[in-house]
Amino acid sequence: MSALTLVRRRMSRRGSDEHTPRFIATPAVLEQIQREVAYAAETGSHIRVAGRGHTRAPMCRCDDGLLQLSRFTGIEEVDAVHGIAWVRSGTRLAHMARGLASYGMSLPTLGWPGNESVGGAVSIGSYGIGTGDSRHPSPVVGLRMVGADGSLFSIGSSDPRLALARISLGTLGVLTHVGLRCVPATHLRSRMTRGSLAAALRRVDAMRAHDYVEWYWSAHGDDIRVRTIDRRPRRIMAQRPKALRHGTARVRSAAYRIGDALPSARQRVPWRLIPERARVPDSVDSAFAWQLFADSDLGSLGYALPIAQLGDTLHALGGVLRALDRRYRVVVRVRYACADDAALSPAFGAETAFVHLTATHDARDYAEAAGEVFERAGARPLWSMPHEHHADDLAELYPRWTEFAELREGLDPRGLFLNDYLAGVFGLGEAW
Ligand SMILES: Cc1cc2nc3c(=O)[nH]c(=O)nc-3n(C[C@H](O)[C@H](O)[C@H](O)COP(=O)(O)OP(=O)(O)OC[C@H]3O[C@@H](n4cnc5c(N)ncnc54)[C@H](O)[C@@H]3O)c2cc1C
Repeated sequence: MSALTLVRRRMSRRGSDEHTPRFIATPAVLEQIQREVAYAAETGSHIRVAGRGHTRAPMCRCDDGLLQLSRFTGIEEVDAVHGIAWVRSGTRLAHMARGLASYGMSLPTLGWPGNESVGGAVSIGSYGIGTGDSRHPSPVVGLRMVGADGSLFSIGSSDPRLALARISLGTLGVLTHVGLRCVPATHLRSRMTRGSLAAALRRVDAMRAHDYVEWYWSAHGDDIRVRTIDRRPRRIMAQRPKALRHGTARVRSAAYRIGDALPSARQRVPWRLIPERARVPDSVDSAFAWQLFADSDLGSLGYALPIAQLGDTLHALGGVLRALDRRYRVVVRVRYACADDAALSPAFGAETAFVHLTATHDARDYAEAAGEVFERAGARPLWSMPHEHHADDLAELYPRWTEFAELREGLDPRGLFLNDYLAGVFGLGEAW
């Protein structure tokens, strides 16, 4: 199944058939992207860009045109001396990791899934690439874009606009290339242990000493499961024959891709019957880093809040969920991110906890109750989730919101890159 069919299916599964765009273009070269944007500018129409279309909020909907970048892929330049790679924005994260590994490089950050595109993950501030992880800031050091008139522009690491433009929700232009800071490729070792919620909340710094940490809590009791990942020198892997080294990883990679293409089949697989070690390896080369997160789900709700508020918020959440119907079993996943300087980063200005909630039932009551708990704590909803915030409350949640809105208006005064949902988010009302 082609990536384009996949995006179409995903959009229609989300009830967006009435938003089928008038045209869908899948450019393979830069000039084609420029031509599509210039045509939209001339004809007064609108364009949204889609990477892989995973975002749940209706960000990729557009009645006019959709640019789908699944053919605009690959690593374009590598500066091995400074450890910088420029990647085309349609590249899937899993492919990017394999490409970087062939240069002996990997991203310094962990925790990103494999099926998303580089452009989508950066534009939306996805954990581990658009934002940083618990130990490193975002690896993005530069952006290249096609602006609203079809011309090219770049934002480099010393440009003060980088902090405004890094997470743009696709509203500043078509992101064509992303410059990524890399580190030498390593081997990754994952461990799952049991722990206690009270200790996890008390010992945040000790947990963050690992190269990566996430933990799972079932919203009652004190038991949690903690996953830590640590980097090891890559030569440990190199002692194994190459075919063996990559064989298992490739089979697993193929299985995940089938699961991605056939989500309904995947839902029917009784995951609990599959041993955890078969679902997620406990040791991989950084070329396959994303496989360590293959069983992680975005969940049905996702919020970011300062680490200092995590304990009180989780206790309040546990209390509210216990008061609801107990059939709604909820799993809470917590990860940490460094304070970020990107204007629209969920981790802007504070050491942050990313909290994802997954419920066994798609329950409105549970979502509303949990949403209220997080909103009262001043948490920022993750951009990929639909939410009901508008410009005024977003300006309170994001101190540099107005600066971002001004930059957006300066680069795209007509709103060529907006759709109804985003016009609402930016409070454009009738002006749109
Ligand atoms: C395990 C897991 C963890 C996740 N963690 C997070 C998380 O921490 N935070 C979060 O927000 N989401 C998260 N998600 C959701 C999902 O990963 C992100 O929404 C994802 O990055 C989207 O990638 P995509 O290629 O599908 O982007 P799309 O859905 O195709 O696009 C996302 C947005 O980026 C824009 N865009 C895409 N490509 C470009 C481009 N080239 N130029 C300009 N704009 C572009 C689109 O218009 C849209 O607004 C997670 C998902 C999973 C499975």
